[in-house]
Amino acid sequence: MNHYTQKAREKGWTLQALAHRWGISDRSARKTASYPKMRDWDALAGVPSRFGLKKEAGFLFFHALFIQPSLRIHLESVARKKLEAPDAWRILRWELLSGGEELVVDGGIPRDIRWGRAKGRILFDGPLTRILVSLSDVRKEVANYEAQTGLCGGCLGAGRITDYWDITEGEVLRDCPKCKGTGNKKDGPD
Ligand SMILES: [Zn+2]
Repeated sequence: MNHYTQKAREKGWTLQALAHRWGISDRSARKTASYPKMRDWDALAGVPSRFGLKKEAGFLFFHALFIQPSLRIHLESVARKKLEAPDAWRILRWELLSGGEELVVDGGIPRDIRWGRAKGRILFDGPLTRILVSLSDVRKEVANYEAQTGLCGGCLGAGRITDYWDITEGEVLRDCPKCKGTGNKKDGPD
């Protein structure tokens, strides 16, 4: 990712979103990002941050859960352990409590749909269980995972994470920033 795109991302903007805002084509936005002139930097500086003031860890984590499968897997295993639920237990939904350090997690044992238009999907039609999980629980879970497997907890050893979801391309990946794409856990203390 080039420097300009990186700076835009830090304010919560993709190039496509900027192109839309500025009324230029995606192609021109990409060209601008590759060879930004001073006026392009000035324009970017004038764009308001999409994150507003809500940059707390809990808020960011809550949103990252929607796109990062690895984070959901860690959250799910914390919840499963706390509930002493079987391996088949899955997260259905989560909510961030005010204060931003705790999530209410609902889940259950889903059923596979074997026929009809929804074939291959899962359905939660049994009883649901609810559990409170804190961000520090999840941090501990990631540390445990890394100690046990030797893999990076950010990407589960894949070296790549979801960058964003594109309406036509689907999942767009990038190198995991935690392990810099190696997939291995960081040696030594953080
Ligand atoms: Zn990683």
